[in-house]
Amino acid sequence: MEPIYEGKAKRLYTTDASNVLRMEYKDDATAFNALKKGSFENKGRMNKAITLLVYKMLEDKGVKTHLIGDVDDITLLVKKVSILPLEVIVRNVAAGSFSKRMGVKEGTNFRRPIVEFSYKNDELGDPFINEDYAREMGAATEEESAYLKRQALLINDVLIDFFKRVNLRLIDFKIEFGRLAEDPGQIVLADEISPDTCRLWDAETGKKMDKDRFRQDLGDFMESYAEVLARLQHKA
Ligand code: UDP
Repeated sequence: MEPIYEGKAKRLYTTDASNVLRMEYKDDATAFNALKKGSFENKGRMNKAITLLVYKMLEDKGVKTHLIGDVDDITLLVKKVSILPLEVIVRNVAAGSFSKRMGVKEGTNFRRPIVEFSYKNDELGDPFINEDYAREMGAATEEESAYLKRQALLINDVLIDFFKRVNLRLIDFKIEFGRLAEDPGQIVLADEISPDTCRLWDAETGKKMDKDRFRQDLGDFMESYAEVLARLQHKA
């Protein structure tokens, strides 16, 4: 069966139900706007399993998501959405592009979390934007941007606590939202939440347990994902 969509890390397939899709997690890894590429055995399986645990926990806390259920090792059943062309990033600690852009040392704590938006467009390199850009680009109304920011901060609070319980510090993360195909007025959390999309540092040693191991060639890449998954599974 041919996917209806194939991205860098996932494939989407239709199902018998018109507003339900199968989301398959691939083993591929990309970084720096796909300039750096690799494939890692079991990455899809682990990111799927971590996303499932995180999404179930968020649903339990009242966060509306696209998740319907589990299919197999690498596949989730999700509601069909149209993804808003925005990446919503929440930062608790300086790292990555923030440190580079602002010249602030990695590891510097913020007094309060930072929420930022970027415009999802590979050709433009996902540029940093604000609510006014989002409105003029037709990506989200001002009310929707305000809602996304509130949801992102709520999700941050829940995730900080969730990861803290398994001795991981949530440094920053990226989330995406989509409009439900069956009800486009409703915006829900969509896409994955995994060590591909979060920075997670071991609370004791400070060891990076996320995609920075691939970006920065730190070694132990899949071992770290396996460790994150094992900690979350043992806690549950
Ligand atoms: N992130 C992501 N996809 C992107 C850009 C960022 O998942 O296309 C995640 C990234 O893993 C990190 C957070 O968002 O957890 C903040 O990333 P940052 O803006 O610092 O960019 P990066 O350093 O990854 O280029």
